[in-house]
Amino acid sequence: MALIVHKYGGTSMGSTERIKNVAARVAKWHDAGHRIVVVPSAMSGETNRLIGLAKEIMSQPDPRELDMIASTGEQVSVGLLAMALLARGKDAVSYTGWQVGIKTDSAFTKARIQSIDDSRVRADLDAGKIVIITGFQGVDDEGNISTLGRGGSDTSAVAIAAALKADECLIYTDVDGVYTTDPRVVSEARRLSKITFEEMLELASLGSKVLQTRSVEFAGNYRVPTRVLSSLTDPLMSLEEEANSGTLISFEEESNMEQAVISGIAFHRDEAKITVLGVPDKPGVAFHILGPISEANIEVDMIIQNQSVDGKTDFTFTVSRNDYQRAMGVLEGVKEEIGASKILGDAKVSKVSAVGVGMRSHVGVASKMFRTLSEEGINIMMISTSEIKISVLIDEKYM
Ligand code: ADP
Ligand code: ASP
Ligand code: MG
Repeated sequence: MALIVHKYGGTSMGSTERIKNVAARVAKWHDAGHRIVVVPSAMSGETNRLIGLAKEIMSQPDPRELDMIASTGEQVSVGLLAMALLARGKDAVSYTGWQVGIKTDSAFTKARIQSIDDSRVRADLDAGKIVIITGFQGVDDEGNISTLGRGGSDTSAVAIAAALKADECLIYTDVDGVYTTDPRVVSEARRLSKITFEEMLELASLGSKVLQTRSVEFAGNYRVPTRVLSSLTDPLMSLEEEANSGTLISFEEESNMEQAVISGIAFHRDEAKITVLGVPDKPGVAFHILGPISEANIEVDMIIQNQSVDGKTDFTFTVSRNDYQRAMGVLEGVKEEIGASKILGDAKVSKVSAVGVGMRSHVGVASKMFRTLSEEGINIMMISTSEIKISVLIDEKYM
């Protein structure tokens, strides 16, 4: 008998029919003798709808109030799923984040989980109940409701699995696993039966939205065995077949296994590039340019500084496209002070990244990637690398 956390995404919870299918699947696992905690997302489109309502009232919604609204989609989901299980004769109970002590910081709309009190959930599991907990939300020290950022139910599920020391966290979604790249964009993408935790972390943080990055961090920090699999298969398929389907995130480096050099390709469409021209090349340049950007709470991604010519240099960096106008405004405000001659921007750029632990032991991966891009006539604007990834910035029309 194992303790297993199931997470179901928006499409999986997209209609009452689908919720009944989720209940059938959950009931199957419970009937097999497992202790089950379920973490559902809001029904598909619901979080967007709620955020849209907020924006009709306030174009830049107050973050605390926005979380109050955005968190409600998940509350509907848990209630409906509990009812679908009760209707099948299963003993089930639903909770919001605050009812089971999911404590977060107060960074509304992107809060981080700090602790989870597992006592109530354990007592229910001991009593044989199926426990259903809202994804995406928590509560801060002052009792304010917070949300964990878009796609945050993945993180709720893995964090709950970590707190309960669950045997496995199963992330049910609308594709049957993690692919070499987004299968909705590239039809030739292949499903991976296993991926290392490090690779999954890079793919998620470089733009593959199949898992929220923080959920992968939790899986790594607490060694939670995590699997991504389909919620759209027959809910009554054999439990053994289901338990081995999808993609397992593994924590071992399989040196004896025939390992692909590149496991996956991630992309981020919505990037923007900013160049500050002709700044004096002296200590503190980077700080004086990026300091005001970070004070405005804007995250910077890739950075390059050119060789100086006649004591002047150019400095280029990227931000998310949402932050582009704001970042340009901030820099216009400090242009005189930093002594820049000009500020240029391009909000039509995208980032493509190749990821694979095999890069550690293989040379020539970067040159192969650059040759391929050159053969297609695609100009590379910026490059950044780590031990297991290469990212390039390109014109968005080539994405
Ligand atoms: P959920 O609502 O279940 O959380 P998401 O839409 O957040 O689902 O994530 C699943 C989607 O992630 C898939 O439909 C797919 O389009 C996308 N995706 C992006 N990159 C990948 C990848 N490498 N492998 C699988 N799916 C990917
Ligand atoms: N419902 C939230 C969102 O749409 C959380 C999630 O689905 O994971 O972002
Ligand atoms: Mg998601």
